[in-house]
Amino acid sequence: MIVHQLAHVAVDAPIHDILTYHQNPEFTVQRGDVVLVPLGKRRVLGVVISTSEQTTNPEIEEAASAKKFSIKAIISLDEEWPRLSDHFLKWLEWVSDYYMHPIGLTTQLCFPSLRKIAKERKSSRPSVVPENQKRIFRHLTDEQNNCVAAIQAVSGFATHLVHGVTGSGKTEVYLQLFEKVLAENKKGLFLLPEISLTPQLIQRFAERFPDQIAVLHSQLTDRERTNQWWQIVENKKNILIGARSALFCPIESLGLIVVDEEHESSFKQDEKLKYNGRDCAIMLGRYSNCPVVLGSATPSLESWHNAQLGKYHLHQLKKRVQDRPLPSIEVVDMRLEKENEKKKQNTPFWLSENLYQSMQNSLSQNEQVALLLNRRGMAHMLFCPSCGYSVECPNCDISLTLHANSHLVCHYCDYHENIKSKCPDCKEGELTTIGLGTEKVEEDLKILFPHAVIARADRDEIQTRAQLEEVIQKMENNEIQILIGTQMIAKGLDFTNLKLVGLLLADISFNLPDFRASEKSFQLITQMSGRSGRHVALDEAPGKVIIQTYNTEHESIVYAQAHDYEGFAQKELGYRQQLNYPPFHKLAAIRIQSTDLERAKQTASQFAHRGRALQQKYAAFNQIELLGPAVAPLAKLRNQFRFHILLKNSQSQILNQFIKRIMHDSKWVPPQTKIVIDIDPINLL
Ligand code: ADP
Ligand code: ZN
Repeated sequence: MIVHQLAHVAVDAPIHDILTYHQNPEFTVQRGDVVLVPLGKRRVLGVVISTSEQTTNPEIEEAASAKKFSIKAIISLDEEWPRLSDHFLKWLEWVSDYYMHPIGLTTQLCFPSLRKIAKERKSSRPSVVPENQKRIFRHLTDEQNNCVAAIQAVSGFATHLVHGVTGSGKTEVYLQLFEKVLAENKKGLFLLPEISLTPQLIQRFAERFPDQIAVLHSQLTDRERTNQWWQIVENKKNILIGARSALFCPIESLGLIVVDEEHESSFKQDEKLKYNGRDCAIMLGRYSNCPVVLGSATPSLESWHNAQLGKYHLHQLKKRVQDRPLPSIEVVDMRLEKENEKKKQNTPFWLSENLYQSMQNSLSQNEQVALLLNRRGMAHMLFCPSCGYSVECPNCDISLTLHANSHLVCHYCDYHENIKSKCPDCKEGELTTIGLGTEKVEEDLKILFPHAVIARADRDEIQTRAQLEEVIQKMENNEIQILIGTQMIAKGLDFTNLKLVGLLLADISFNLPDFRASEKSFQLITQMSGRSGRHVALDEAPGKVIIQTYNTEHESIVYAQAHDYEGFAQKELGYRQQLNYPPFHKLAAIRIQSTDLERAKQTASQFAHRGRALQQKYAAFNQIELLGPAVAPLAKLRNQFRFHILLKNSQSQILNQFIKRIMHDSKWVPPQTKIVIDIDPINLL
């Protein structure tokens, strides 16, 4: 009899199976260890998932054991990386299984891209966290106090939803909670959307917790990221602040996870591992047995629904701190404005008389103005009035956007071409522009307000954090009078002197083919409104918000104007329930892509066909709604033709099984065709 000591390893390769290796006689590895193993002709890193013993009798099981002996041995134990704890690994296994992402590629996300270096060279760049901090404490409001106490009253894992209006002091609540966690010698994780990781916020944390903060965001160098990772892993820092990927940093004795702006769709990663950071945070809290706090002024309907069902503890902050008033919101009907066109002084079509007057008023009182337009460029598109032709991207099925009055850009693949004047289709019409973008607004503003300093914040103008930080600093120092931007400026920013906010074309996202279009509009309007008058006292005039729209009766506008999140949620949840959309049912989107149209189409119908066959065979799958295949709203993107199938079911477990069964042997998928599975999709385009 021979006893084999085996280790089962998740290897860093796109395979779903866990591979088996012999233990190396020179050392023994355990679950969670990082090892180097042979894979084909390569050597790859992997994480040990389990170990086992197997006894074989070479005489009886000759054939079988021949195979056993072909099992290779682990090459080495990588002692640089810490062993992953059992509960953290369980969480990783859940992530891999739920999102159907290969386990070895999932575990690999836990480690920084560079090796540790013992001797650190002094970086010439400023440190990630500002130095010389001072500790500032605040006297909490009653609402803040109640919220902190209620969260602390629950021990172990629980999910809390903090619904607090903009400026109600949610961040202060988080700071208090982290304080307690550190006092218990535990660590904290604070997750935010990338865009909210502003110096304003990091500063607030650094002031409260001097020398305790590590930060992970997308614009660190690999070396900086690696260093921040070790600061947490080696217990030198106790609070990790980061965007969604910070979840994968293996934090020992985690005592609290906070997910701020939990409604943000940027918590969802759209490629590779298509995980939702908020949902994964809740699961990590569950496996780590620590509380998870979700915060927002406009909670996602998923979270709100869970709070209504009692799955989450709900805490509400209904007032701004120091009874500062919420802004007053006015809605301007741009349809009427159009009729007044002739009476208008020389203002451009996108600017109502009301907003124009209010801007002049604010500027004359040395107050700042911010304008939101969720679209970049000069104009939306170039269009031929004779034949209706519009200039589209040759790689993607969407219109090109005019930039700098000279070239056309595809916002998906960055294709560029020079502007044309004659229509290439009918060869008669003169191409004209329709629509509006931030660049055009800025140009018009310069003529309307020649003495004001105007800044633009969108992805064309601002490509790095440093650039965003510069704009923020200038806003803080009153060096900018008018800020025009996309949703980049709608979130998290806190400027004392900003008292007027204009939403130029609130309608932009109303008609997207997305069941969340209303919810997203409501969130954007409310968040952007929340930037206005954040620091005015009770006896001062409140901040002002002017919403320009062609759809004054749209629900997202009506409820946002009334500051009525709950009313909006109730109404919208009613629609969702009727149509079996989340949060009532679970969704999975299957995207089928190929450079060959026919092949994409056939693969999509084959997927659907296999699915329907399974439904006939197994009763458990009967209830699944299989919609499609249909041409995706973005029918062609970066030269790939795209089809999609939508699956709906009340139980995610069943959907998961169903998709795995269909994909089981993926040999049926033709070459150069990709099937992308997106669980709980946010982006349905
Ligand atoms: P939110 O995160 O809910 O939008 P913040 O935490 O940013 O709100 O608070 C809004 C503003 O009020 C910030 O400038 C913050 O420093 C201040 N603030 C928060 N709590 C208090 C308090 N208890 N007393 C005085 N000011 C406070
Ligand atoms: Zn394109």
